[in-house]
Order: sequence, then C-alpha cells, then structure tokens
Amino acid sequence: MNTHQTPDAYFGCLVFNDAVMRSCLPNSVYQAVMCTKRKGTPLPKEAADVVAAAMKDWAVAKGCTHFTHWFQPMTGITAEKHDAFLTPTGTGGVILEFSGKELIKGEPDASSFPSGGLRATFEARGYTVWDATSDAFIKDHTLCIPTAFCSYRGEVLDKKTPLLRSMEVVSQQTLRVLRLFGNTTAQRVTTTVGPEQEYFLIDKQTFDAREDLILTGRTLFGAKPPKGEEMADHYFGNLTQRVSDFMRELDEELWKLGIYAKTKHNEVAPAQHELAPVFTTSNIAADHNQLTMELMKKIARKHGLVCLLHEKPFAGISGSGKHNNWSISTDDGQNLLDPGDTPQDNMQFLLMLCAFLKGVHEFAPLLRLATASAGNDCRLGGNEAPPTVISVFIGDDLQRVLDAIEQDVPLDDTGRIKFDVGVDAIPKFRKDTTDRNRTSPMAFTGNKFEFRMLGAADSISCTNFIMNTIFAWEMDEFATELEQAEDFQSALKDLLRRTIREHKDIIFNGNGYGDEWFDECKHRNLPNYVSTVDALVQYDRPEFVEIFEKYNILTRAEIVSRKEILLDQYNKTVQIEAKTMLDMARKKILPAVLDYSKDLAESIAVKRSVSLDASVEESLSKNINDLAACLHDAMQDLRDLIAWANIQKDLIDAAWCYRREIIPAMERMRAPADALELLLPSDRWPIPSYTELLYHI
Ligand code: ADP
Ligand code: MG
Repeated sequence: MNTHQTPDAYFGCLVFNDAVMRSCLPNSVYQAVMCTKRKGTPLPKEAADVVAAAMKDWAVAKGCTHFTHWFQPMTGITAEKHDAFLTPTGTGGVILEFSGKELIKGEPDASSFPSGGLRATFEARGYTVWDATSDAFIKDHTLCIPTAFCSYRGEVLDKKTPLLRSMEVVSQQTLRVLRLFGNTTAQRVTTTVGPEQEYFLIDKQTFDAREDLILTGRTLFGAKPPKGEEMADHYFGNLTQRVSDFMRELDEELWKLGIYAKTKHNEVAPAQHELAPVFTTSNIAADHNQLTMELMKKIARKHGLVCLLHEKPFAGISGSGKHNNWSISTDDGQNLLDPGDTPQDNMQFLLMLCAFLKGVHEFAPLLRLATASAGNDCRLGGNEAPPTVISVFIGDDLQRVLDAIEQDVPLDDTGRIKFDVGVDAIPKFRKDTTDRNRTSPMAFTGNKFEFRMLGAADSISCTNFIMNTIFAWEMDEFATELEQAEDFQSALKDLLRRTIREHKDIIFNGNGYGDEWFDECKHRNLPNYVSTVDALVQYDRPEFVEIFEKYNILTRAEIVSRKEILLDQYNKTVQIEAKTMLDMARKKILPAVLDYSKDLAESIAVKRSVSLDASVEESLSKNINDLAACLHDAMQDLRDLIAWANIQKDLIDAAWCYRREIIPAMERMRAPADALELLLPSDRWPIPSYTELLYHI
C-alpha cells in the first residue's frame, strides 16, 4: 500500500463490505445478502454460490490463497483453520474455487476446544456457521469468514452465538415498548458498544528474559521500583518514538480492516496505553475487539516490543481493564439512552433507565461473573479498578429527577423538571455532569452506560450477551405490564415510581473505593463476590437459567458447561502460575541467592582471617540466609499444595483450593523473593527488574 494515502482512501480496503458487495454482486443477490444481514434469513444456495465466488475473486485479487472460518471458541481467543482455494482439475492443474456451501458451513474438528462436557469426544465434529452480519475480511493473505461455532448436536460452543441471539431478543422486546410510546417506524433496535482497551508495551528482549511473562503474561516476582505511578507523569504524556511508531502502524492496520480506531494515549501506569474505537453494533464491536487485541500483539513484535493484555502484569502498578460502553438505538437513529429534548423522549428515556437499573439490581451476579477471571481477580477491588460489588452511578442531576418521581413531587424551576407526565422536560445531561465518578463499576455517561469491570484480555461477548439478555428481560416485563394498562400515562408513572422505589439501592453516586461503601453495600444487600470462584458458582442459579432459557440464548446444560469451562480455565491458570513460580525460584532465584551468599561467606572468612571488621557482610548475609530459608520453605509448601489440588476430584473443590490455598501460598513465596531482590546487587539478580521492564522503552 502507498503509505502516503490518506486513511479515507484505504479504510476498510481489506473488508468485503457493503460497497464491495454492491459493486460486484448482481442486484438480486446483493438484496438477498442484505436480507440475511438484517433478518437472519438463510441465504438461498444459488445466491450463496454467487457470493462465495465473488468473495473468492475479490480475495484472490488481493493476494489471498486461503480461506478460513474465523470463530470464537470458549478459549476466549479466536480460532481459524485455513483451507486453500485450490481444486485439482484432474489433469495435473488447479483452479481456484470457493462454494456457497464452504462459505456457509464448516466442519472443524471440535474435540480439542473446551466444551465443558457438552461434546463427548466420539462426536468430535463441530460446525461453524457464517455470521453474515459481520463482514468477511482479509488477514495474512487469508479470507476470514466470521462464524458461529456449535457442536454436532447443535449445542453452543462459542462466544458469538449467544451474543447474536441476545441482540435479536433485545430488539424484539424493546420494540414492544417503543410501540407503546407511539413509535411506529422503528423496525429494529440494536445494542452498540465502544470498548476502550488498555495494554502495556514492554521491550521484547526484557520480556524474553522472564519465564513468568512468557508463560503467564504477568510478573510473578518483582520488587516495587523506586518510582511507580505516583508522579502521574505518564497519563496523556508524550509518546516515545517507538511507541508512536507502533501505534501508527496499529491504527493503519485496524483502519484497513474497517475498525474505527479513534483515540490513543498513554495511560496512568508507566508503559501503559489505551486505544478506543468509535462504537458500533455489539457483535461487530466484539469481532473488532478480538482483532484489535490480536493485531496489538502481532504489531508490537514487529517493533521489538511485546504487548501485554494481562489484567495485572505488575504488582503495585495499575492493571489493565476494558471499558464496555453500552447503549441501545433504533434503526431510525434514536439513541434510547439519550434523554432527548422533549417530554415524550424523556419519559421513554426514564423508562429505559429504570429498566436498566432494575436489571442490574436483579442480575448483578451475572454481570459480575461475566468479568471474572484469574487475571481480573488481581485487579478488581484494588483501588485502581472498580470494587467487586456492582452498583450504578447516575450522577446528581439524574438522581434529583429520580427522587422527584419516586416522591411524586415537582422539581423546582431552577433548571430541574416539574414532574408531571408529559408536561415538563428534564434537562439534557451532558457528559461532564455525569462522568465525574471514575470509581463506579457501571456509570451513566450522558447517553450510554460504561461498564468498567472487564479485564483487558476478556472477550467482550460474554458481558454483552448478558447485558442484552437482562435488558430484554426487563423490556419484556415492562411491555407486558404497560400493554395491559387502561391509561398508559398513569401506568407508566406508577411503573417508574415503583421501579425506582424497589431498585434504588443499586444506585451509588459516591466513592466506590471508600470503606464506607463496603459497609453500606452490606446494608443494601448488594452481593459482593470477591473472587472468580465466588462469582462463577452463581452462574446456574435457577433465576439466571430462567432468563437465558426463556429467550433461547443458552440452555441450562450450556450454562453449566460454561461455568465448568471457566472454572477449569481458572484452575489451570493458577496452576501454571504456581508451577512457573516454583520453576523460576528453583532454577534462577535460589541459585543466584545461594551463589551470592557463598561469596559473602567467603569474604567474611577472608576479612576475619586478617582481623578486619566484617559486620556489614555478616548482617547482609544473615538477612539473605533468613530470607532464602523462608523462600525455600514457601516453595515446599506450594509444591505440596499443588499436589493436593491435583487430587481434588471435583472442579469446584479444586477451584476453592486454588483460591484459598494456592494463591496465598504463592504470595508467601513471592514476599521473601522480592525482599531478596532488594538485597542482591543488580548484576547478580537473575531476572529483569520492574525498572528495566517499565522504563526502558
Ligand atoms: P472516556 O475515556 O472518557 O471513558 P472515550 O471517549 O475515550 O471516553 O470513550 C468512550 C467510548 O464510548 C468510545 O469508544 C465511544 O465510541 C463509545 N460510545 C460513545 N457513544 C456510544 C454509544 N451510543 N454506544 C456505545 N458506545 C458509545
Ligand atoms: Mg472510559
């Protein structure tokens, strides 16, 4: 590509998008594809063949030789299996072919993907099915076709399917409510997401010298550097040349893929950065976020860097999260979380707001568990990220409006509403009046909710299918009540008042990091699931199964399988971390310490033999030997506990063992090692220090 081209000239050049389809497909086929995109109706075989051939021609002209169904199994990352377009001619040659059948359906061997017991291994087959709502694109000379992934018997094995289903349901249920407000034009309601992505960049050579970063993505040892983030000099600071070059290339590659990368800046921690795209439809945002994470890692390598997406790569330094900005809008362009200018819009907005509050209050554990992972456990609740209790921030202005509705009193004339249905307007809430609280897990920010609990490495699909399902459930309930009302306006007013009264406990506009909040949330009965295990075991509670089953998002068996997959991932993650710690301590840290201790002993002996004072060496040596003994004991403990975890037959018992025994044992092992790092000369310490990791780019 000519690098002097402006972004508008190459934006989306690797995407088989609407414009491309319009130009290369016969109109009837193009219309059929649009119908599939909008309504999910299957594409007739003849049309699929035409689309596939056009896709292939387009991709081959851009240098592709292969195609792949691109899917999102429960590993949390994406998967692909490449097939060449080649078909033998029978006379020794080949032609390039791609059929509608190959476009629509694939049959990868599914046996090695996590299924949580859903798929017995003798039924190794899985299916990938084209998601026509997300455009095909080119990556590494391969045509990638976004697909959903299920088992031979049709059980859901991926992250995309429930998200697509939840978007349908939100649309259906919200339209019912909109009709009651007299909207006869909207045909579809869509949820939109803009995920802000945080990440660290560190030098590749330094990375390579640390087994913990290579195997686990985070540092398992490391003394705090003399300088952390206390000076706040990194946030929005100048980009170094290397980082700037990386970001530029990343932007260009994302733009080619039609991803609206918009904002980039340094984050609060040293070596930490953020990228925010312009929001788009949920499922596209989820696909784009996966691609963004993948490209971040890949492009970093080209610049001699490594991109860390772990939620907490460095102890004592802020970790990385992902902010899921969520809203909902109609196909005629109305954002339903925008308070609007007229009373009619206000009432509709207030109903949406109340539905959201009620949903979060009733289903908080689901939102909490959507963000649960071993990595995110290191970050949530640590006064750098939201607490583990879910609450919603709405800001003072909106709070006054809700108070007035609840108490049925008109507001005064000083810019606030006099609440009387259909008469007075509520003021516009500007972002700056609603976004002052950075400690809330879920904040209303003017025309959307920002959910800040997600970890940087998370797929956003789980959070969004859960948010969508919850919202659909509340819309369903509200629509059912209001459809039966004799007097819509008074029923609406009743519903709003009742909802606020019953669910106002979920609103918290104060400091979410303060101790008072933890006492207060107990009074309010808001659940606090402090760890992944606490959260995940809630997944199959009957009231949760009910909402997923009601809308055919997931069956009980599929929910149980997800719970098991996620617990299993948690257990394996912690186990790998624990084993990596032992490995590093045994092979690097302890030998270096013993070596240095031997040198000290020798120099003590030498000094003593000539009657010189060796008190400094003696004191240092004693400290080091004591710490080494501590480390050695802690290693033995950890080894025993891993063996204990390994004989647990039940997944949940094992998970508790990791959470309650192994993680504390890892902390007991880290403490003496980090103290030793501060005592040894830097050239004797066998792994790069935090200063080297964080300040050498
Ligand atoms: P901040 O850093 O203050 O949270 P940013 O402007 O960096 O805000 O990010 C806000 C994110 O919210 C962007 O990705 C933006 O596209 C997204 N966003 C804005 N409006 C909507 C909407 N209606 N639906 C979903 N996301 C939205
Ligand atoms: Mg944000």
